[in-house]
Amino acid sequence: MRERLLREGLQAQQIENFFEATRLTRDLREQIRERSHRLQWKVLDALQGRGLSEVHLLGSTGYGYGDTGRELLDEIYADLFDCESALVRLQFVSGTHAIACGLFGNLRPGQEMVSLSGEPYDTLSTVIGQKSDSPGSLKEWGVSYRQLDLRDDRLDLEAIQTFLRPETALVFLQRSRGYAWRSSLTVEQLGEAIRRARKVCPHAVIMVDNCYGELVEEQEPTHVGADLVAGSLIKNLGGTLAATGGYLAGTTRAVAAASYRLTAPGIGAEQGASLGFSRTMLQGLFQAPVVVGQALEGACWAACFLELEGFEVAPRWDGPRTDIVQAIRLGSPEAQAAFCKGVQSSGPVDSKATPESWVQPGYRDPILMAGGTFIAGSSLEMSADCPVRPPYIAYLQGGISLGHVQLGVVRGLVSLKNLVK
Ligand SMILES: *Cc1c(COP(=O)(O)O)cnc(C)c1O
Repeated sequence: MRERLLREGLQAQQIENFFEATRLTRDLREQIRERSHRLQWKVLDALQGRGLSEVHLLGSTGYGYGDTGRELLDEIYADLFDCESALVRLQFVSGTHAIACGLFGNLRPGQEMVSLSGEPYDTLSTVIGQKSDSPGSLKEWGVSYRQLDLRDDRLDLEAIQTFLRPETALVFLQRSRGYAWRSSLTVEQLGEAIRRARKVCPHAVIMVDNCYGELVEEQEPTHVGADLVAGSLIKNLGGTLAATGGYLAGTTRAVAAASYRLTAPGIGAEQGASLGFSRTMLQGLFQAPVVVGQALEGACWAACFLELEGFEVAPRWDGPRTDIVQAIRLGSPEAQAAFCKGVQSSGPVDSKATPESWVQPGYRDPILMAGGTFIAGSSLEMSADCPVRPPYIAYLQGGISLGHVQLGVVRGLVSLKNLVK
């Protein structure tokens, strides 16, 4: 190993740090593995409990009537989230789409949406119509929006009671950090906010953007009172196998309301061909606890190694984790480009490519993305995203094995050091 690391271009001290990070994180990584084993049993309970059988893996075409695999997948997700209902579809083009269906489905003109976790993820800005009058936004639809900012990097619990109004129709929380230098919210913290919000507006739909958070903790937001959670299948729950898609899970009412947005009123969840993709969606879910566990081990190790190398990282290597994202402060666009190039070169696909930044639909700033993934844009496969804006952070996430994350980080670091020379 030592020799290989030398060949990768690491200096003697960096090699020491590589092994030191492995030693330091050993106990924590053991805990992560134990949790992922418990979650593996939970997923198996759901698959077996619903009687998954070979016929469910076949799929449908056209309207997708009688697609038992699709129906089973919904039921399995509902079991996993311990909630009444779920909608798991490849027709969701992304996590943003699933979240948008949840919002539009559960809000009506004249009503108010409130975020309790500050500014939502970049792509939701145009959905909400927060900063600009983006066509088709909730704002154009007559839905108003307010947000309670985080305070000292935490939910402002004390302010919730006065900030919300009894008539607030939808309360929104974002579990993961998104592209922001903030902490992710643990399920326990979400639960505390939900409890307080419920007191003021007992009838509001309380929704959590659950992207990157699934299977990181043993509990999900639905276990602590959320009415609706949403996420992307090319993140945690797709287990790197789902080719596309998103999910919503929660109360029968909130999920049904969202389903009328995905398809049409009256049709809801009753149509939607699975085209033979149910197999990889189910198999991906089966594997997700292990892959998420490996991604977490990778994030924990990466944080430790890079801290030893003098970088500022969030969370700290031994800090609490409720998502798979590891933020690394790089400080300049050049450093972001160098780091991404290194990460890209360690991927199984397109390892010779040089990532270039571009303004993707729904984003305000150019984003540099290192992928090299089998599923385009998958971020449960190891990847690094860099919004090219101060303070120039890299968000590293995913990885089906600790080894892959280690190679990615080593190459990212070497590429950075070559820049300094
Ligand atoms: C990834 C992500 C989303 C949705 O992104 P898509 O690319 O549309 O799937 C939403 N919120 C957060 C916090 C995310 O990390």
